Amino acid sequence: MPKQLEGKVAVITGAARGMGEASVRRFVEEGARVVMADVLDEEAKALAAELGDAVLYRRTDVSQSEQVEALVAAAVSHFGTVDVMFSNAGVMGDPQKDFLAEDFTSFERTIGINLLGPMLGAHFAAKHMAQNGGGCILTTASSSALYGGHSIVPYRASKAGIIGMTKALAIDLGRYGIRVNSISPGPTRTPMTLAMDDLPEDHAEAFIDVAMESMRSRMPLGRLGLPEDIANAAVFLASDQAAQITGVDLPVDGGETAGNCENTLEKMQARFLELMQA
Ligand code: NAD
Repeated sequence: MPKQLEGKVAVITGAARGMGEASVRRFVEEGARVVMADVLDEEAKALAAELGDAVLYRRTDVSQSEQVEALVAAAVSHFGTVDVMFSNAGVMGDPQKDFLAEDFTSFERTIGINLLGPMLGAHFAAKHMAQNGGGCILTTASSSALYGGHSIVPYRASKAGIIGMTKALAIDLGRYGIRVNSISPGPTRTPMTLAMDDLPEDHAEAFIDVAMESMRSRMPLGRLGLPEDIANAAVFLASDQAAQITGVDLPVDGGETAGNCENTLEKMQARFLELMQA
């Protein structure tokens, strides 16, 4: 089977671990050359050493405009071009106990990395792509953008912002042949998920069990996502197979956002029968 990304050059942020690492591996398997960006030097350098000449690591804080500009420039000077900008880096931010006590320090950092970062990536990559016949901009949003929940207001807001940005940029950049899409993972087994509540590593499996129990009722496919699930979606959206797809947010969430899995009809009928018999 021909490789899906043969000849393409991709920049992937948040590349040191989790979904970013899985995406780097899949992109290289599919024939791409990849510039990896992250702030975790040790993990990123180890991955780059393992994958050899097909990858280049460049330390980049995605919330800093001049660093993102330099990242795109490094991809162009090292590999000759940028065909795919996959802004995947993200942070959960500090959980808020009380929104009324918020001092917005953590809020600004979360928005800076999760929303400003992808916008900067899109900006600098699109400037290059517009001169070169087009390209693909891809961002990692989240299923949590699509409904409310406790304690992570800036995270959800930043991810909802990405979905808005995806649609708006698809319209602005279509004339240059640039496609803009996002992926919304559901709960996925990565270091970010395992770091919730600062769990010691040896409690990770127990945590997964508890998490699964609470998620089963909202994920029809009944399992946490794997980083490779997201990487496979990214390969597809970055490839020419998706040439007519733009402005789309693709949920990769085991059906989490398809609707309420609870059989409310059955519950209502049972309750009705109870009332009838009373
Ligand atoms: P992860 O924490 O394992 O990986 C995130 C990577 O981003 C890390 O390598 C980290 O060092 C990097 N990063 C953080 N701040 C950065 C910065 N300022 N500049 C450059 N790199 C930075 O998390 P993950 O689960 O692989 O998350 C990948 C993306 O998926 C994130 O955008 C996250 O919000 C999103 N997401 C995750 C889940 C989940 O359940 N894990 C669900 C929905 C969406």
